[in-house]
Amino acid sequence: MARRLDPCGTTGAYQRHIKAREKPCQACREARNAYERDYRKIARRRHSETSKARHRARGRALTRLARAYAPAFRALFAEELAKQDTTRQEED
Ligand SMILES: [Zn+2]
Repeated sequence: MARRLDPCGTTGAYQRHIKAREKPCQACREARNAYERDYRKIARRRHSETSKARHRARGRALTRLARAYAPAFRALFAEELAKQDTTRQEED
């Protein structure tokens, strides 16, 4: 059974033009551009969801770390506060 070829104006036909070393026709270029636009949009959305999830997980992990090592955390926090005060005084 012969495989039905994708008609021009599809990403399949775009690939066929490329494989045949032809310059893709306008309809195929437009199909390819639309596909890439959608792909980038999805990739961006997926990336931002992933980074938000990682950011929230990092915050929760830091909170747990601070509780597990409370004395060390308090000492580090005090140190950083002191640094900040010094920096602020230097700025004035
Ligand atoms: Zn075409």
